[in-house]
Amino acid sequence: MEKMIIVGTGCAGLTAAIYAARANFAPLVLEGHEPGGQLSTTTLVENFPGFPEGINGPELIMNMKSQAERFGARFSYASVEDFEPADGHVRLKLDGEWHETQTLIVASGASAKWLGLPNEKALIGHGLTSCATCDGAFYRNVPVCVVGGGDSACEEATFLTRFASKVFLIHRRDKLRASPIMAERALANPKIEPIWNSTPVEYLTDAEGEMRAVRLKNLLTGEETELESRCVFVAIGHTPNTAPLRGKLDMDADGYLLQREGTRTNIPGVFAAGDVADHVYRQAITAAGQGCAAALDAEKYLAGLEG
Ligand code: NAP
Repeated sequence: MEKMIIVGTGCAGLTAAIYAARANFAPLVLEGHEPGGQLSTTTLVENFPGFPEGINGPELIMNMKSQAERFGARFSYASVEDFEPADGHVRLKLDGEWHETQTLIVASGASAKWLGLPNEKALIGHGLTSCATCDGAFYRNVPVCVVGGGDSACEEATFLTRFASKVFLIHRRDKLRASPIMAERALANPKIEPIWNSTPVEYLTDAEGEMRAVRLKNLLTGEETELESRCVFVAIGHTPNTAPLRGKLDMDADGYLLQREGTRTNIPGVFAAGDVADHVYRQAITAAGQGCAAALDAEKYLAGLEG
């Protein structure tokens, strides 16, 4: 019987691991199919407090991991296949085998959705990103693109007007899905130019392999055009990594875990932290803060069990 299993090695999971390890729980931390979470696919992180010159996302994650290991956290590669509450504890099926734990912190994150274009994965961090807050400031006085028509796309496009010379908002229909206030704000901004009924079909790179332009296809006419853009912000939604927990833990219609009383879920001993339960802030620092809170909530729960 483990005292604590933490699912996920992004900012939330690793911060939970640091706190739990320092509380002497020797947590077992599970790395899944995207070890390090979304930070591991970014380059320079300039908004994580404590790094005045910024720090590379993968380096920040490695630092957090070694900090957790130093205090006794154990790491293992495993995917959660199933989960069930048992008598006063929790059972987890990992790669075919059932394991038992007194507490479980779910910090499995959310994955940005991408368009599925051929060189997409290689361009992430080289002019392709899903986070304007993280990367917007790198693109000053150049034109950039945002893909999507929801609240995220409108919010990111509006934010990017602080830096970019022009923001093209590329949407596959001719009506934004975003809430009216967000849509109106974006469309009223003179720096934002919507490109309707269109979608990127190819990313074009320069000699260094950095984003140079996108080839757009008008979905009504089939016409293809090239649009110069040093960066493409894909804002077509996120998917929380909660599939194996469906039907067991309370979640909203989009699959984000619901928290009650801090980071507690509907099942005693199970806590949720980071992007898996947060579609609003989605920042490394807010995920880290929730990881800390989840470890403290779990510690309190364990103290309660021991009477
Ligand atoms: P979303 O509402 O699901 O919107 C996704 C957008 O991307 C839609 O416009 C969709 O087009 C488009 N899209 C999806 N797949 C695509 C594809 N393969 N190719 C091209 N376009 C594609 O996602 P979101 O904007 O991230 O918002 C998620 C949730 O967070 C929402 O509930 C939103 O209200 C909330 N949110 C709130 C705020 C805020 O209040 N400040 C900020 C951000 C997000 P279609 O319209 O054609 O389907």
